[in-house]
Amino acid sequence: MPPRPYVLAETNWKAVKDTSFEVAILPWGATEPHNYHLPYATDNYETRALAERAAEIAWNKGSKVVVLPTVPFGVNTGQLDLKLAINMNPSTQAAVLYDIASALAGQGLRKLLILNGHGGNDFRQMIRELQTRVDLFICTINWWTCVKGADYFDEPGDHAGEMETSIMMSLEPDLLLPLSEAGAGKARKFRVAGLRDGWAWAPRQWSKVTADTGTGNPAVSTPEKGEKFMKAVAERIGGFLVELAVADPKQMYE
Ligand SMILES: [Zn+2]
Repeated sequence: MPPRPYVLAETNWKAVKDTSFEVAILPWGATEPHNYHLPYATDNYETRALAERAAEIAWNKGSKVVVLPTVPFGVNTGQLDLKLAINMNPSTQAAVLYDIASALAGQGLRKLLILNGHGGNDFRQMIRELQTRVDLFICTINWWTCVKGADYFDEPGDHAGEMETSIMMSLEPDLLLPLSEAGAGKARKFRVAGLRDGWAWAPRQWSKVTADTGTGNPAVSTPEKGEKFMKAVAERIGGFLVELAVADPKQMYE
C-alpha cells in the first residue's frame, strides 16, 4: 500500500512540506489486559484504526488532516496489580500533551483533536489548563460515545465486552483467542448505592471488580457488528473533521 498522505507515520517530508495541515489527530490508547481473549493493545488498535478511517473520509473531501502516531499508554492506576498493565499518570499525560501541542503550534498548526480510546483517560481538564499556555485549539472525543452502542450491539459492555470484541474481530482477527476462551466479563458493583447508580463517582479497583479483567460479556460478538459500528463512528468523526478543518479558532461561535 502506498503511503497515505494523512497518516504521519507513513508519509514523508516531500509530501508534508508543501501541505498546509489544518487539523492534527492524536489517537491515545492504553496498554492493559482485555479479558482473556483480546490483546493488550486493543485500545491502540481500535483508536488508530478509527482515527485513520475518519481522516481518510475528511481527506477525500479536501480537508487537510493528519493522524499522529498513537500514544500507547493510558491512565491505569486502578490496574497496577494486573501484570503488565502499564500506567501513565494524568500529570505525565499532561506533560506529553503539552510537548506535542507546543510543537504543533510552533509549526503553524491551529487545531488538535485528541481521539481517546480508553475509559481511564480524561483530557478535558488538561485541555482547560493548556488553553492558557499554547496557541492551539484543542478538543477531544471519546470515540465510543460518538454513536449509540446500544443501536449496534445487544449489550456493548465497557471493557472487552461485545463492542470491543466485535471491533477487534473485524480489525485484527488473527490476534484474538476464540470466544470459547473468553471469560464472561462479569463486573461486581459498588456496595454504596450512589456509586452503583452512577451519580457519585470513584475509580474502580479492577482486580476486585472482575475475575477475567473484562467488564461486559463478549459472547455474542461478531465481526459484522464491529465493522458496522466502526463505519458509523468513522463517518461521524470524519464529518466532524471536515467542519473543524475549515473552522477559524478565533470565530468558533455562531
Ligand atoms: Zn479497551
